[in-house]
Amino acid sequence: MRPLMRVLRPVALVWRRSIQARVVASTIVLSTLVIGATGWALLSDVADGLADSRREAAIAEAKSGFRFAQDQLDASLASEPATQAQALTQMVDSLTGSRGGQRGYELVLEGPLGGEDVPVRSSAAIAPGSLPSDLRKTVSTRTGTYWSFSGLSVLGRSDSEPGVVVGSQIRSPRTGDAYAMFYLFSLHDQQDTLDLVRRALLLGGLAMVLMVGGVAWLVSRQVLNPVRLARRIAERYAAGSLEQRMLVSGEDDIARLSISFNQMAASLQSQIRRLENLSRLQQRFVSDVSHELRTPLTTVQMASSVLYDQRERFDAQTARSAELLKRELDRFEELLSNLLDLSRFDAGAAQLELDAVDLSEIAKQAAQESILGRHGIEVRLIGVDQPAVVEADIRRIDRIVRNLLTNAAKYSGSPVVEIEVAQDDELVSLAVRDFGVGLSGDENLRVFDRFWRADPARTQGGTGLGLAISREDAALHGGSLLAWGRKGEGSEFVLTLPKIVPIGDEDTGRGPTPVVRTVYA
Ligand code: ADP
Repeated sequence: MRPLMRVLRPVALVWRRSIQARVVASTIVLSTLVIGATGWALLSDVADGLADSRREAAIAEAKSGFRFAQDQLDASLASEPATQAQALTQMVDSLTGSRGGQRGYELVLEGPLGGEDVPVRSSAAIAPGSLPSDLRKTVSTRTGTYWSFSGLSVLGRSDSEPGVVVGSQIRSPRTGDAYAMFYLFSLHDQQDTLDLVRRALLLGGLAMVLMVGGVAWLVSRQVLNPVRLARRIAERYAAGSLEQRMLVSGEDDIARLSISFNQMAASLQSQIRRLENLSRLQQRFVSDVSHELRTPLTTVQMASSVLYDQRERFDAQTARSAELLKRELDRFEELLSNLLDLSRFDAGAAQLELDAVDLSEIAKQAAQESILGRHGIEVRLIGVDQPAVVEADIRRIDRIVRNLLTNAAKYSGSPVVEIEVAQDDELVSLAVRDFGVGLSGDENLRVFDRFWRADPARTQGGTGLGLAISREDAALHGGSLLAWGRKGEGSEFVLTLPKIVPIGDEDTGRGPTPVVRTVYA
């Protein structure tokens, strides 16, 4: 079974992937069926024709033999059984030997009929089965000439050859005895001719099938080559090289396809360029605005700090305004610095300052985060006893972990937060798990969207950019930041980093899969 599968699997693969293989295979199968059916019909026609002509000649020859035998019997004067028997044997001999050269038949004479043990005279050692019993019965009971196809077998030879048997009754007028006389004609020559025709048809058919298959291969290649080229070029487009164009030659359908394909590529290229420019412009705009706002903001912040420090001197309402001003300006500053971070990621300008960073140590330090204490959250540390060292930018990793813990404290409402570290040979995962409000539906994906907040009214400050930045930070290390959650049960955010930062920036989609157990997955 296994070796069969090993052969079948690549065949199935080629069948599924290659239109050309399917076209050629179907053409070969169909032409084999058509040519086979035609050949079979032709062969049966030839066989019938050969057998019929031989049968007609055989019957004519046999009839003249029967007449000769009847004449002999009519002329025979002997009435003694012994003498009569001798005369009959002589007749058989003369019939089989008289025509000279190679005779084309054997002769069997049975009779006189009627007794139990009918004597049989034959020209060769014809096996008894050679005479079809139906024909024998008909000839022994009725007058007239009858024939039948049969397999002729000679005693001492194992194989039988096709033949036609013609039989008739002859009667001795003197004794009144009836005899059944049979001519057995071989169809050996016809069989040879038929074999020759069959071989010729088989070889011709095979050559024709191969030729038709070859033609199908050539034609499909002609049609498919431009399609394959288009596929290759489309693949290159998908990989980002939009300069490729198809070669246009002639004015046929393929040429028109190439022209349309090239037009589509050109229009795609210009659209993408336009969008890239637009996006670059937007990024520039955000980055410039953030930069421009920074300086006045610093001044305003300084002024607000002065007011904030003096708030005890103001009446209650003005003091409250000074507090609000300070809080909102702090949020504004956070937003600006987040926006500047993101525009650095977008511009591909974010740089890593790599160091050996122990995630177990980071987890232990983050557990001391004051916001957790303020919310009265119990922190459980799992798997932090052994070092889990990765090559990373400690500032960014620290920022991710602190952001996850701050989020758990701010949004989950969970009294307990678990930090679990796990590793294998290549990766280290750090999971921050809470048992609070959780995430529902596709929120585990949307939390990473810029400015997305589950419930803006419920959020306590925050810009909606924290997780977006954290994910960019993880990706910058060739790592991943994934989230899972269940409504009302809790959520977990898993940071997974490679121990060695991969060289090159090939995009591997979602990044590495966590090596820590995921409770809400
Ligand atoms: P922000 O910077 O405003 O905190 P984030 O990007 O960090 O924004 O988070 C986006 C949103 O994801 C939050 O507003 C909150 O609704 C949701 N979120 C983040 N962490 C959790 C958590 N542990 N449990 C429930 N919701 C969360």
